[in-house]
Amino acid sequence: MYQIIDGKRISQEIKDELREKVAQLKAEGGSRCLAVIQVGADPASSVYVNNKKKACEYIGIESLSYGLREETTEEELLKLIEELNGKKEVSGILVQLPLPKHIDEEKILLAISPEKDVDGFHPVSVGNLSIGRPGFVSCTPAGVIQLLKRSGIEIEGKECVVLGRSNIVGKPMAMLLLRENGTVTVCHSRTKNLKEITGRADILVVAIGKPKFIDESYVKEGAVVIDVGIHRDANNKLCGDVDFERVAPHCTAITPVPGGVGPMTIAMLMNNCVEGV
Ligand code: NAP
Repeated sequence: MYQIIDGKRISQEIKDELREKVAQLKAEGGSRCLAVIQVGADPASSVYVNNKKKACEYIGIESLSYGLREETTEEELLKLIEELNGKKEVSGILVQLPLPKHIDEEKILLAISPEKDVDGFHPVSVGNLSIGRPGFVSCTPAGVIQLLKRSGIEIEGKECVVLGRSNIVGKPMAMLLLRENGTVTVCHSRTKNLKEITGRADILVVAIGKPKFIDESYVKEGAVVIDVGIHRDANNKLCGDVDFERVAPHCTAITPVPGGVGPMTIAMLMNNCVEGV
């Protein structure tokens, strides 16, 4: 029988711990404040932004909300970030992605002060992670590490395979597993003999953005499988990059979609807001 890794329960556990920490911080006269910037009114982005604001409210983090119109210029957005960088009371700045096409995303992310980079996307944060210095870590992969640790799954010495090499999931995931003393292999679209490599994994993290791509032929008997993907299938039901029904019976532990990695991203964002660099 396989263990279902319960991201809903674990993310709630983390949020409750953070709520206590913030209460303590406030009792000592401290505070935390997250500035959330959204440009335009993309409905999916609005849902994410609202969920982040709700999580802040639950934990006791103040949130400043900047809903900017679609036509906002790059200069205007840069000016706002500059202002927020300089505000002592703002501890974190988050720019909801994607941005409208006329704004250079990279330029915007670079403008956020690394001390307030709660998404962990700034090159300084990425560099700190890669050389083992303290710093903000990208929230989704940080959430995967918490899922493993809080489910009693040892990483040290394990053969870990990360499927996907994006800057926000695959690459930081590999660095974090390495930091936990896993033996890490990263696969991508040019990888040859993919099944041979994934089939060696004790821990397989899948982030390729292809619905139900991974079936049992990619997975070693007894592996732990973490599914980062989120999609809607033909029946409009949420599913991941892993074909759960086919893969789960071959695992010792697996994350479901929904209720696995998904809820961890916001929990780890809140963790970044509370803990700081
Ligand atoms: P991405 O930027 O599209 O990256 C996908 C990666 O998968 C790339 O490195 C690509 O290789 C690789 N890939 C694509 N097809 C492949 C194949 N057939 N064989 C081997 N590798 C292949 O995606 P992402 O942003 O990392 O996101 C991945 C998934 O996670 C998506 O479903 C996304 O919605 C989800 N996601 C979830 C959360 C959450 O909170 N749960 C957060 C972020 C993302 P190349 O580099 O060679 O192109």
